[in-house]
Amino acid sequence: MSRETKHACGDECQEALTQLEAFLDGELPTTKVESMRHHLQECYPCTDRASFEEQLRSIVRRGCADVAPAHLVDRIREHLVTGPGEA
Ligand SMILES: [Zn+2]
Repeated sequence: MSRETKHACGDECQEALTQLEAFLDGELPTTKVESMRHHLQECYPCTDRASFEEQLRSIVRRGCADVAPAHLVDRIREHLVTGPGEA
């Protein structure tokens, strides 16, 4: 178990993976985006994971757009405008 890796996949990866969603959503603070990008450049497992998540997101997004009919989208929008007061 003493295989040497040029990159220690440990805390940094943990942090990167916990921030991955925010990163993909564009909700990560700029300073963290920088270190995330830097990490992804060096870390193949995380790059892999990130691109997988990204693809998954675009598939889900497309899938939802196909599944959700226009009238349902309108209803959701209506509900959002009305606010979460009444059931
Ligand atoms: Zn990593």
